[in-house]
Amino acid sequence: MNEKINAIAQVCLAGEQINEEQIDVLLAEAGTDFFGLVYWANKIRENFFGNKIRICSIVPGRLGGCNQDCKFCAQSARYETAYRQTQILTDEEILNAAEQAKLNNVPNFGIVYSGKTVSEEELIRLENLIGQISELGLKVCASLGVITEQQAGRLVKAGLTGYNHNLETSERHFGNIVTTHEYRDRVKTIQTAQKSGLKICAGGIFGIGESDDDRVQMALELRKLKVDTVPMNFLHPIKGTPLGELETLQPKEILRIIALYRFILPQTTLKVAGGRVLNLRDLQSWIFCAGANAILSGNYLTTAGRCVEEDMQMLADLGLQPQLD
Ligand code: SF4
Repeated sequence: MNEKINAIAQVCLAGEQINEEQIDVLLAEAGTDFFGLVYWANKIRENFFGNKIRICSIVPGRLGGCNQDCKFCAQSARYETAYRQTQILTDEEILNAAEQAKLNNVPNFGIVYSGKTVSEEELIRLENLIGQISELGLKVCASLGVITEQQAGRLVKAGLTGYNHNLETSERHFGNIVTTHEYRDRVKTIQTAQKSGLKICAGGIFGIGESDDDRVQMALELRKLKVDTVPMNFLHPIKGTPLGELETLQPKEILRIIALYRFILPQTTLKVAGGRVLNLRDLQSWIFCAGANAILSGNYLTTAGRCVEEDMQMLADLGLQPQLD
């Protein structure tokens, strides 16, 4: 039994926050005692979430053609990828995807738009779609870039319950990854959506050249912002993007990151999203032992994921249950 990790886990289990000194101890111990870290991350998950796992699915309402320059993203019009041109899904395609989520018992459905913001015309369309999807009994979340308080209020009225806007990485590393907007713009949008009563889904992407400290700083910022869900993406390098040739993270390194986040954010939903299939390979089911309590199932925005049936089977094999509400 690793006494140092055990002592820090007890702080989390007591519902208290760990400090930066304790985080440093975890980072040091994680290098030599992977199983000790994962053992306690799993205990913390079980303590706060039992055997329930949240499942979300997403549909790209507007794909590609983005004028921003996030270096990991295939949707930026600045890079030579298959998504340089904007593609818009029809209402029918979006509603079909929502109906499929309902059939698959996936209760959380997200509509994602590429780009920095949405127009008035798009907002009206989204209000209608959100209303129709809510009527199916799904919880609707959206990722539409920067929004104003007034726009957020209209979306809430239409039935929107959650808003996704990622920090992507630490404030220090952000400028190495994105130059067309600033980290503080992202923080501001999160706060705007939060003020409007939306549940916040905000996290980032790992494996983009960040350090351990960048990972910790992003987790601390998310803790300060009191976000509800932290989506954790792991770089799936896309040819043509500036990070297209980067080596992917090793599966055990990914599990260490998830476990570290579980210690820093013990009661926050941790959702493993993009890059799961490519990066974790056979270790996908370990994410729950490492502390994750949610997954994005089905396809991601520009890369293929895993079908919902396979994910449901994985949960059943582990004795876990999908959270249906
Ligand atoms: S992450 Fe979003 S804002 Fe950045 S390039 Fe991709 S679609 Fe555009």
